[in-house]
Amino acid sequence: MNSYSGFSLFRNALTGHRHWSRAWRDPVPKKHYDVVIVGAGGHGLATAYYLAKYQGVKNVAVLEKGYLGGGNSGRNTQVSRSNYFYPESGAFYEHSLKLFENLAQEINFNVMFSQRGVLAICNSPHEMELYRRWANAIQMNGIDSKILSREGIKKLIPHINLDCRFPVYGGFIQKRGGISRHDAVTWGYARQASAAGVDIIQQCEVVGMDSSDSRVTTVHTTRGTIAADKFALCVAGHSSQLAAMAGLRLPITSIPLQAMVTEPVRPILHTCLVSAHIHVYVSQSDRGEIVIGGGADLYNSYAQRGGLPVQHENMEALLELLPIFSRLRLMRQWAGVCDMTPDVSPIVGKTPIDNLYISTGWGTGGYKAIPAGGDTLAHTMVHDQAHDLLKPFQLDRFETGHLIDEGAASGVAH
Ligand SMILES: Cc1cc2nc3c(=O)[nH]c(=O)nc-3n(C[C@H](O)[C@H](O)[C@H](O)COP(=O)(O)OP(=O)(O)OC[C@H]3O[C@@H](n4cnc5c(N)ncnc54)[C@H](O)[C@@H]3O)c2cc1C
Repeated sequence: MNSYSGFSLFRNALTGHRHWSRAWRDPVPKKHYDVVIVGAGGHGLATAYYLAKYQGVKNVAVLEKGYLGGGNSGRNTQVSRSNYFYPESGAFYEHSLKLFENLAQEINFNVMFSQRGVLAICNSPHEMELYRRWANAIQMNGIDSKILSREGIKKLIPHINLDCRFPVYGGFIQKRGGISRHDAVTWGYARQASAAGVDIIQQCEVVGMDSSDSRVTTVHTTRGTIAADKFALCVAGHSSQLAAMAGLRLPITSIPLQAMVTEPVRPILHTCLVSAHIHVYVSQSDRGEIVIGGGADLYNSYAQRGGLPVQHENMEALLELLPIFSRLRLMRQWAGVCDMTPDVSPIVGKTPIDNLYISTGWGTGGYKAIPAGGDTLAHTMVHDQAHDLLKPFQLDRFETGHLIDEGAASGVAH
């Protein structure tokens, strides 16, 4: 595998860029693996990478029904932050943010992580009180968070309309939060996992499973039957379908979440802006597009499209806050299928089926969790017990009642 560097770019330029090696192999599936991971999104690929690189498990396959990164990992709005309310979430997402801070070096792929700050604004005095409490809780978790006045917000985003439909009272910012390039994250993990020996098998849909003695023995795929000692499901919005193949019922519902981008313009927005009240969040990508997200489509669906009314709501909200964008043309719109738990926190780890592990419930916020999700699930699979950071995020919390209610921590409520 070529190393990606300024030097290799220069050297390959001399031969017209015709001699780069393929980023990942295209292997024929084997009959048996030590570990089979279903789903080549960020979580499946990162888990494979950490298994191969740090846990010494290299006989791993990642099975993907479409193309890698074609699920939510290539459809999200790329925001990373660790400003969650509960200490359990703070510890987990902070681990992920720290891994993000070094990810480009770790996987030798420029993931373009730009720590430009994630600013949440308040549009009522009561919301301001709640945000003060939230910002304090974040600081108590040992994570950076700063309250901003109206003037402070105007300084960061001069074009914002502070006296919009619901006047802006203030907000709080996590300066270490930011955005990165989501394709680069999945491609980077895929490239390194493949180089370490992992077979990434695309166009390979899992359509059934065989079990015996409370163990999954094989998966049936569109490219044949594959056996393994351990299996992991990292299939986001399709988690309940795949778990049902193993006889497991999950507390997951699947809903579409949309995003859209405008035509590219010169740098104008240097912070990720979130308004839960006006109900929109927005940032500018390194390519110059204005990236817009908002509330989810609140019906169950597996269609990666989303409905027109939500697009209108998102646009109205954006233009309320930033009327300067009114003449930009919308270039693309799409949706991903999100895996929602009742407490809006993930479920990661062992299942009641002995050799079946799961990474789900990431909902509308699992992009930021990809490095930590992969790292801790790989550890859990090898040691067959939950990584310390994952202990609060086990499936049995829905029996014991130890929920981690992070519904309010989504950028906007869903
Ligand atoms: C519009 C949108 C905006 C978002 N914005 C953010 C954000 O700003 N920040 C953030 O942190 N999170 C965000 N998220 C959430 C984040 O994208 C997801 O939580 C995360 O990408 C989930 O990763 P994953 O690897 O679990 O799932 P995915 O990336 O969806 O990967 C699952 C894979 O499983 C495959 N699969 C499914 N069924 C099968 C099968 N039967 N056989 C084989 N393969 C199968 C799918 O094809 C898919 O490739 C957003 C999501 C959406 C949709």
